[in-house]
Amino acid sequence: MIGVDAEGRVDGDHTGVVVAPTEGAFDSEQHFLLGLWDGAAVFARAVPSAGVGLRALIDELSEDQLQLAFAAVGLIGWHQRAGFCPACGTASRVILGGLARRCPSCDIEDYPRSDAAVIMAVTDADDRLLLARQAAWPPGRYSVLAGFAEVGESLEQTVHREVAEEVGVELETPTYLGSQPWPFPRSLMVAFAARAVSPELRPSPTEIEDAHWVTRAELREQLAAGALSLPMAASIARRMIEAWLADELNPQRVG
Ligand SMILES: [Zn+2]
Repeated sequence: MIGVDAEGRVDGDHTGVVVAPTEGAFDSEQHFLLGLWDGAAVFARAVPSAGVGLRALIDELSEDQLQLAFAAVGLIGWHQRAGFCPACGTASRVILGGLARRCPSCDIEDYPRSDAAVIMAVTDADDRLLLARQAAWPPGRYSVLAGFAEVGESLEQTVHREVAEEVGVELETPTYLGSQPWPFPRSLMVAFAARAVSPELRPSPTEIEDAHWVTRAELREQLAAGALSLPMAASIARRMIEAWLADELNPQRVG
């Protein structure tokens, strides 16, 4: 059993994960099937307090544990927000072991959704990487650019728009690198690599506190000196940056 707690909203700062044997009888409204773990069925359920935030644990979990934890947090968060029919407002019931909900009044079935977001490793003609930071991030933290897809956009169009909005850079055609679920609360991060047409940067004053190009030597030096920190190791952002550092920015390395 994976229990997930939530205080008001489900995000990384308020969400924890515990794995423990099931207690009491199966409750179809509370126990949501995640899949099989070593041949046994594993369920997620909401608990009053799980103690440790998932974000704090991410880099300590194995790939398998992380996949289960992401599924548990995403599923619990969705059930907590989706208790009423989106069409008529009647309280809905859990169906399919927690995979979906059904309205007893109008019979509409509601399934969890993911918000598509893109994340971009943008390089210039000299193969320098674009790093940027937002004012709200911890001091010294830098990452690659990212943003949510808008209605009616392809992901490639989102890549072009976000980079234009955030740093004023025009791109050549983006190429797909890989993806990662990010259930804070329900994103699906889709990674691209893209070459800038020109290196001139015009950071958005409302979104970007600083943006600059780095060479591999400069980034290694800044990391060694503690002058700059990167996103958590398990994030696709970090995988992209590490792949670029290794001169292997490709789907085999990132995906
Ligand atoms: Zn309904």
